[in-house]
Amino acid sequence: MNVYEPSNKIEGVVTDTDQLIAQAERISAKNYAPLPVVISKARGVWAWDTDGRRYLDCLSAYSSMSLGHCHPRVIDALTEQARRLTLTSRAFHNDRMGPFLELLCELCQLDMALPMNTGAEAVETAIKLVRKWGYRVKGVPHDRAEIIVCRNNFHGRTTTIVGFSSEEAYREDFGPYGPGFKLIDFGDIDQLEAAITPNTVAFLVEPIQAEAGVRVPPPGYLSAVRQACSAQDVLLVLDEIQTGLGRTGKFLAHEHDTDAAPDVLIVGKALGGGVYPVSAVLAPAAIMSLFQSGEHGSTFGGNPLAAAVGKTALEIIRDEHLSERAATLGKDLLDRLRQIRSPLIAEVRGQGLLVGIELQPGVRNAREICDRLLERGVLTKDAHERVVRLAPPLVIEKEEADWLLKQLEEALTI
Ligand code: PLP
Repeated sequence: MNVYEPSNKIEGVVTDTDQLIAQAERISAKNYAPLPVVISKARGVWAWDTDGRRYLDCLSAYSSMSLGHCHPRVIDALTEQARRLTLTSRAFHNDRMGPFLELLCELCQLDMALPMNTGAEAVETAIKLVRKWGYRVKGVPHDRAEIIVCRNNFHGRTTTIVGFSSEEAYREDFGPYGPGFKLIDFGDIDQLEAAITPNTVAFLVEPIQAEAGVRVPPPGYLSAVRQACSAQDVLLVLDEIQTGLGRTGKFLAHEHDTDAAPDVLIVGKALGGGVYPVSAVLAPAAIMSLFQSGEHGSTFGGNPLAAAVGKTALEIIRDEHLSERAATLGKDLLDRLRQIRSPLIAEVRGQGLLVGIELQPGVRNAREICDRLLERGVLTKDAHERVVRLAPPLVIEKEEADWLLKQLEEALTI
């Protein structure tokens, strides 16, 4: 396989890798620790660095790149819309938002949607919505609403959200934090039942804890959660920002369980087709209608460019059967990864094309394996110290997945 593509230079653009890395290190805040590679072009599942070397993208911008890089239909939708109308603010209607949200609601089987931009903003929106429901519908005394969340959660980086993180690195030094959140263990239904009080308005949970190292709950967990929430008048809020839109082999990850549909659903990442930040919160009309004019908003949320891209992304996921592809290819990938005999591997877990390889403690850390994979032309990133995550675009072909397995086998067995 030819891994080099020479014609990768753009007139007037610096292409010296060391120079670009040094510049970024000097000028940008150190809130990320990127691998030493500078990407300058990408198509489908492949990305090229400034020297023209090719890599299989197995991070997919933290699961956002499900349609592959520069999907032609997304780029057409983006550029056509960019020439026509980009931003109106919500002070006026635009002709793209309604059709986008109609399709989103249909696919997610919920009545209404509130469009935002990033995932964290959508999570904040859901928090406001369920608190309002608690006061106006459930009758919780004012400012006493409680939301139950899980240890090792990842819902974003705003101060409210990191305030209920259990990860010291995310929250230390950024307080003081507000009250109103209660932490329980992920996957433990008894703890959920015990934590609910008359003031509990919602349980906010990820179907799979992706950032925590692709932690998959026991089978039937979400169905049991749904039952516990319904029995005690608590809203179930599913953060499917990473697991949704086909990634795990179903359009939404909760569909793997029976009767596990949420009251409030949060989606993002892949909704932007890999080109634009698009997120949304969805809920039944009785809940979403609680938001009145002026109570919440976003200058860019629901803008026509985002809506054109978002609608096209959803159409591609549906038309190209990407959930089904993720199910088939993901199962094959998981089965074959589990056959690799390596003293480095403690466990392989995941669902669809969201996979985590947990390493044995004290041998090699995940970052070292990611460095080895980089040398072999595979881009991915550690999820915590001991987990190598794999989340390739859902458009990956069987032969490409075979090639990936070969690289993984080599990186994990020497
Ligand atoms: N929720 C989940 C489950 C996520 O995985 C992420 C990002 O990784 C977020 C929320 C935050 O999304 P964003 O980075 O777009 O704010």
